[in-house]
Amino acid sequence: MKVSEMLVPTLREIPAEAEVISHQLLLKAGFIRKAAAGVYNLLPLAWRVVRKIEQIIREEMDRQGGQELMMPIVQPAELWRESGRWDVYGPELFRLKDRHGRDFCLGPTHEEIITTLVKGDINSYKQLPLLLYQIQNKYRDERRPRFGLLRGREFIMKDLYSFDYDQAGLDASYNKMYEAYNNVFSRCALDFRPVVADSGAIGGKDTHEFMVLADSGEATIVYCEGNDCSYAANEERAEAVMSGEKEVAPLLELKKIHTPDCRTIADLAAFLKITPERIIKTILYTTEKETIAALVRGDREINEIKLYNTLDCVRLDMANPNTILAVTGAQTGFAGPVKLKSVRMVVDSEVMAMVNAVCGANEADQHLVNVNPGRDFEPDIVTDIRLVKSGEPCPNCGNKLLEARGIEVGQVFKLGDKYSKAMNATFLDENGQARLFIMGCYGIGVTRTMAAAVEQNHDERGIIWPPQIAPYHVAVLPVNHKDEHQFAMAASIYRQLVDAGVEAVFDDRPERAGVKFKDADLVGYPLRITVGAKGLAGGQVELTTRQNGEMKMIPLDGVVDAVKSNLRRLGHTRL
Ligand code: ATP
Ligand code: MG
Repeated sequence: MKVSEMLVPTLREIPAEAEVISHQLLLKAGFIRKAAAGVYNLLPLAWRVVRKIEQIIREEMDRQGGQELMMPIVQPAELWRESGRWDVYGPELFRLKDRHGRDFCLGPTHEEIITTLVKGDINSYKQLPLLLYQIQNKYRDERRPRFGLLRGREFIMKDLYSFDYDQAGLDASYNKMYEAYNNVFSRCALDFRPVVADSGAIGGKDTHEFMVLADSGEATIVYCEGNDCSYAANEERAEAVMSGEKEVAPLLELKKIHTPDCRTIADLAAFLKITPERIIKTILYTTEKETIAALVRGDREINEIKLYNTLDCVRLDMANPNTILAVTGAQTGFAGPVKLKSVRMVVDSEVMAMVNAVCGANEADQHLVNVNPGRDFEPDIVTDIRLVKSGEPCPNCGNKLLEARGIEVGQVFKLGDKYSKAMNATFLDENGQARLFIMGCYGIGVTRTMAAAVEQNHDERGIIWPPQIAPYHVAVLPVNHKDEHQFAMAASIYRQLVDAGVEAVFDDRPERAGVKFKDADLVGYPLRITVGAKGLAGGQVELTTRQNGEMKMIPLDGVVDAVKSNLRRLGHTRL
């Protein structure tokens, strides 16, 4: 393609609204344009990248026996009512009505549609397992669409659904997808990690998220520093290891002390000249049913996801000051578990090992010292409800855990019979008995993967595409477009490359060399061929690698081979 004919509207300035680097560079390099908040045009260069990522995904899904189909984006509300999700999905669901007033939504995901489809057409165990997938636009009216393609309201997703005879079948399908996802993200040249993730209130179901490591990531992951241990988890899910044995010390007498204006753990620790580990932190929450008190050690944070999963509730919010006053009799900052009536107490395991601790006295400016769990208060639930931080021991091997930020590009999930049960989707087994399909679902964010690749592959001049997903492999540019010989030689090299199956562009624009170099670096072609007078005099052109700026002179008759071998060296496997 000639650059003069391409739609690549590069910008000089970075639009102010773009906070993260992928958003900035995709706008600046002419890949995307916004249509509405979280809704983007994918211009020709972006579309080429998307199609390459999709192709990698297709190959890996098909290799595992996946079959591609296409389901409707517009979905009837009845199916969502049948699964029970119409009312619980909330404002993220784009809802619409047809001319007859019937409810529909734009698909954020397709469990309802596919379960109905399979229920209608699969009757026998002989037709299982079944792996069905599609690649299409998804719609979610996100509360905060941001970061360009990383969190859109319209985005491209690959979603695959597995249907199996039983749990063992599901385990096998899950493992296939786990392997396929590793292959997909490796082939996209991403630095990623599969992490154990939270499966929500359903509980007990396996799920992994595939996280691309990047500082702009919205998720925090913890992983083991040990080389032989592969433990990695979303912070939401990371398991805490109890630190040591219960302290052996005589239990002292409970006492109330005056602690003026000590409303925070830090205030209190400073006032009493103790470390926060000696203090019990009590935080009140409300659910749709009750108020509860959650207790962790003073130096810890509550993991609200763990707390939520522990409680059988739909909503969980921090209690407001009025509730705190009504329940404890004191203003915010002085809550404690002793004589705290009428609320259930969820206590972190670590708190139960504390001896002669300090906590709020449920009175303004008062705290209790020598508090002993079990003696001075009775927990209702004791479990792990705290956030795990870097430096803590790995639950698998005891080595140190480290923290990193991650972008979730994919997730694999064992659904079990959640949807088949709700929607009564069964098949007949070998004895003619009806059984529920055992299902899994597996998503990859295609547009998010593209943005994540930019987050990991860029420098101050622009994007550096890995060749496997680059929009084009190489840009050919004559230094002086007015020099007819140079121009003709560049055009001929471009032709040779295209004929040899290399994806090349020819920068034929009547621009200064500097402008063309700048644009090529910004767009991020992995290689650049520069055709200049000096080189041509010696029968050579210049080959530049975008990744490291390395320049080599190569003979005119060896351009195609040099380009191909350099692309292979950079990781391209198909040339
Ligand atoms: P998140 O926690 O980031 O909101 P999710 O867990 O709700 O995502 P899934 O339902 O697991 O997302 O969807 C599968 C994949 O689709 C995700 O792993 C992600 O790559 C992609 N995805 C989800 N939401 C968005 C979005 N708003 N914009 C772009 N990609 C998205
Ligand atoms: Mg997810």
